[in-house]
Amino acid sequence: MKISEIAVYSHQIPVVHGPYRMSVGELTTLETTLVKVVTDSGLVGWGETCPVGPVYQPHHAAGAQAALAELAPGLIGADPTQILSLHRRMNALLDGHEYAKAAIDIAAHDITGRHFGVRVADLLGGVQTERVPSYYALSVGEPDEVAEQAHQRAKEGYPRLQVKIGNRPVDVDIEVVRKVWERVGGRVRLAVDANRSLVTRDVLRLSRECRDIPFILEQPTRTMDELHGIRDRIEHAIYLDETTVDVNAVLRAVGSNLCDGFGLKVTRLGGLLPMTTVRGICEARSLPHTCDDAWGGDVIAAACTHIGATVHPRLNEGVWIAQPYLGDHYAPEGGLRVVDGHIDLPSGTGLGITPDERRFGAPVTVVG
Ligand SMILES: [Mg+2]
Repeated sequence: MKISEIAVYSHQIPVVHGPYRMSVGELTTLETTLVKVVTDSGLVGWGETCPVGPVYQPHHAAGAQAALAELAPGLIGADPTQILSLHRRMNALLDGHEYAKAAIDIAAHDITGRHFGVRVADLLGGVQTERVPSYYALSVGEPDEVAEQAHQRAKEGYPRLQVKIGNRPVDVDIEVVRKVWERVGGRVRLAVDANRSLVTRDVLRLSRECRDIPFILEQPTRTMDELHGIRDRIEHAIYLDETTVDVNAVLRAVGSNLCDGFGLKVTRLGGLLPMTTVRGICEARSLPHTCDDAWGGDVIAAACTHIGATVHPRLNEGVWIAQPYLGDHYAPEGGLRVVDGHIDLPSGTGLGITPDERRFGAPVTVVG
């Protein structure tokens, strides 16, 4: 089988229920990039990459589209079921830009699953659960407001909540964490995510003053180096997210005992194939982790859920998808949803969903 055509689409995803607030800013709409890979056998696969704005990481929508336009001509004729070879071919065409290559990787897994009549999770090693745990990210907000939201989400059945903090006096963040714990403590697992925003002084204070609350602290500082300096003085387990920019960065963090787990992003690492490498590293060292992406619609949600379904249950910190913040699905049939804090693994072959491409308008790039 050979790739005969690649089409790249830009699609706007509005955020419902008000802006989504992280330490790096507010989001009201996201531009996602979708890739349709067509083969000479007639099989079609879909991929997606959706940076959560231009400052969360060094990724942005126009960058993804430019990288895909650079890659696409060199991928015509490649066999999409030979996914490792496809990655090597992409690396020979363009250095870096893993978040763009991830969209091709996801489409290749979709095609390969459909070709062999199996689900992507089966290709990735085997399904551990049909009902994948999710977690809810609570926007940066006022203490009482966030605590009430936490209570509501715990009632819905989320096994884990993530509290966003940062970019304001740390006293307020400490109060948020305390109030959330008073409201939901013992009912859910708790993560506190600073999205790189805290100075080391405030990380130490937050951890010291909340010593009695068993949360994990996610990506507190901007760099790994800052964290190295204070790691021994932090009272909480540390997870890394944004700074694990590629598989090598994961290896460095694990090798230097810098963290106790990860918030992993499928597109940041370059797709599902590198995710399986990192899943293996985590399993070898008993490190819990999530399987998320920064944002995105049904294709990304399906990709994250398929890899999330394969994680060893004792290490599975859940799959975050943007669906609770989205107005609708571009895959009208089988679009992924969080129900009672969990996501059902799609039952069809490949990713198990098919986008309605009429919603995307004309492609920004077509090659083939
Ligand atoms: Mg995070």
